[in-house]
Amino acid sequence: MRRRHVRIGLLALTAMAGSVLMASAPAGADPTHSTAGAGSNRSQLEDREAVSLVRLQLTGADMLDKVVAAGFDLEHGVKRVPTGIEAEAVLTAEQRAELQSMGVRILGSDEGFAWNEQADGGIRAAGKQAVQPLNHEQTVRVVRADWFTTKGQGFLYVEARTTEGQQADPVVEMQLENDSGTDTAFGFARTMSRFVDSGQYMFHRNLFKLDKRPSQIRVTSSTGGVTTGKVSDWLENAPPPLTDNPGYKSNFVDDYKTPQQLYGRAKEIAQQYPDIAEIVYLPNKTNGYQRKAQATIGGTGNSAVVVSSAAWGHEGGNDITVEFVERPGANLPLAVEVTGKAIRVLLAKDASGALASTAAEVAAALETRSAGLVDRAHPYRTNAGTGIVAPTSAPVALTDFLDQKRAGAPAGEPPRGPATIPVLRIGKHRDGTKPGVLIQAQDHAREWVPATTSLEAAERLVHNYKTDRETKKIVEDTDVFFILSNNPDGANYSFYNFASQRKNLTNHCPDENADPGRRDSWGVDLNRNYRVASGHDGYSGGSSVCTSGTYQGPEKLSEPESKNIIWLVEKYRNIKFMMSVHSNGGQLFWQPGAYIADGRITTPRPPLGDEAFYWQSASRILSQVKAYRETVVTPENVGGSSDVLYSSAGNVREDLYYTYGIYAFGWEVGGSVYNPATGNWQGGSFQPPWEGDPDLVSGHSETMEYANGIMEMFRVAADWGKDKKDPKSTFVPGGGKYHGPVDVRFETNEPATIYYTTDGSRPTLQSQRYEATDFREPGQVFHVTETTTFNWFSVDAAGNIEQNYDPTKNDKRNNYRTATIKIDKK
Ligand SMILES: [Zn+2]
Repeated sequence: MRRRHVRIGLLALTAMAGSVLMASAPAGADPTHSTAGAGSNRSQLEDREAVSLVRLQLTGADMLDKVVAAGFDLEHGVKRVPTGIEAEAVLTAEQRAELQSMGVRILGSDEGFAWNEQADGGIRAAGKQAVQPLNHEQTVRVVRADWFTTKGQGFLYVEARTTEGQQADPVVEMQLENDSGTDTAFGFARTMSRFVDSGQYMFHRNLFKLDKRPSQIRVTSSTGGVTTGKVSDWLENAPPPLTDNPGYKSNFVDDYKTPQQLYGRAKEIAQQYPDIAEIVYLPNKTNGYQRKAQATIGGTGNSAVVVSSAAWGHEGGNDITVEFVERPGANLPLAVEVTGKAIRVLLAKDASGALASTAAEVAAALETRSAGLVDRAHPYRTNAGTGIVAPTSAPVALTDFLDQKRAGAPAGEPPRGPATIPVLRIGKHRDGTKPGVLIQAQDHAREWVPATTSLEAAERLVHNYKTDRETKKIVEDTDVFFILSNNPDGANYSFYNFASQRKNLTNHCPDENADPGRRDSWGVDLNRNYRVASGHDGYSGGSSVCTSGTYQGPEKLSEPESKNIIWLVEKYRNIKFMMSVHSNGGQLFWQPGAYIADGRITTPRPPLGDEAFYWQSASRILSQVKAYRETVVTPENVGGSSDVLYSSAGNVREDLYYTYGIYAFGWEVGGSVYNPATGNWQGGSFQPPWEGDPDLVSGHSETMEYANGIMEMFRVAADWGKDKKDPKSTFVPGGGKYHGPVDVRFETNEPATIYYTTDGSRPTLQSQRYEATDFREPGQVFHVTETTTFNWFSVDAAGNIEQNYDPTKNDKRNNYRTATIKIDKK
């Protein structure tokens, strides 16, 4: 466990539980299992490896790191379970076998972890559990205790820590009890689950059904620690959503949208509402919905040759044919004839008249003697190409495979070639004076709901601006930038060719992975291509393997799509909020989002004020999501993403927060929903049926509920922009005379960060920062044993400083806060 030491006369003391993290709190939930959505489409195309969506069980983060490093994408449906991690992956049969050989378990369709949900309906055997002596009273702290309801069912989610949690032999067990709300006696003891990640103890936790809201819990450790904590509400009693306002218009999006449809509508909106909307074009064109025309000729062995055209398929590559020809006779040299787009390779013969050209020789001849038609030819995968090439029975046509459409593809033909991405900018005052909010959807191609969710939010802004007071305030007080799809090439591939496409279409693969059988695995994971906490710098969760689902690219910002985001936030410095919208999972994240696995070293934790502001904002956003059909994003799925899920090296959120100070959220929309008919949580999918069961898995319902959340994010930004009020802090229990040592801490009236000194000096932004006791916990407690003066000030999320103190200048007022603890030692 981390410990921090505070100077002179002070001991950093782990705070006793009781208080639960700022803002409202709440609870978690858990789908018993998820099943495949459209992501499981099987391809009937020739020369392509069939894939299916499977659910996996891994022993923990160490195994997850190994699996990701080996090139697997396990990004979605990831769930921390007491026995390790469960995740989903789109796999070929070969990949399944490889994973199994690494020790990963493939789960059956009805397997998977479920919390032991017990609707106890009250307290059983109250008081039966013996209270342990308080001889280890500092060893247990409540981190969170959250109550929520969904569709008539109550849930309690608890996280608690013991200072002896890392101890392995024996492992410390924790028991959780709760009162009944009306009866204050504790009872119904349950054993909590110990959560370990990358070898580090995180905390113990539990989620379970309850019929009545408890007001307090008690946690007891097997080493004698015991503490109690208050239960907080999570997303309960939220204000009504904007959609309840009379005359409010919503429900604009009627189906999934291709990038062309999204961009077309964005441009229409800018034309129809020129007073509040415009298009900003991103400067870097994508690498394009296009491929080189290819063929693998002569099987898949040592005699096979992989051929790729110099021209893109649609620009002539698809017209090329390649034929391997056997001539009569002996002692014939290898030769190449080119007539128009027809390439004939005349195979060599030896003195006895036997064929004599190897695959490596034929490939070299194609690269250098095809009149520029072929720019890449090589043996198949890892073969050396020493096999003798056989003649073809007929000319082989090269193809980019893009005209081979998947079943269910939309009508029409997506445009080939590079795309320019339009940003739909909405705001009455687009002059940099209002807080900017960047909504960036569909970095990952197969995630179709984030795009429709973002478009729905844009439509609500422009349609309600003139008629709805709250919407008018948003448009007048913010400057919103929508990127409705940040991966149009990959998205077109997902719509038209291969539903499970995740990355962009750029092929960075060397020869051994460049044959067209691997074409569904090429591309860069755009959300691993950024500069902060990159896989290139040793952070965990990005892959250097070009066929990996989390391939980070050959270098940081190698891709036009990620370069564009940096361009945008550098050009529009008023952008202070960002939401990277993904699916599916029912999660809301911020920093830290990446770590170095060895030692589990995360990116720096946001200051306490930022952390509290993130929680407060999350609570507002998710309350509005819940308002649509009672979907609850549970607190176990909210927070620093590497705290609650896994490390994502080089993600966009880390770059925007640490480089530019932008509050950068990551959202997994469309997660589990509770099904009261079965009593279970039902998992989501990347492409749920648009008109599915409106109460369960439905693209339409997810679009509407998460658009509510995006609208609330705009209101968070508007409030932030108007916040000119200084924060106020309290020193508890306060300065004065004490007989003997005293425990002190700071509190603030809103999310704010405190800087303090204890040596009598003036506090500045370089002074010690008041920190959390441990992550996901409230502020630390100081055990003061000698007379000490605390000087401090607080700064809120909008940058307002308590009492207008200026920490940068040594001005005469010196109006920082101060308090002296006088210890009378008799
Ligand atoms: Zn994603």
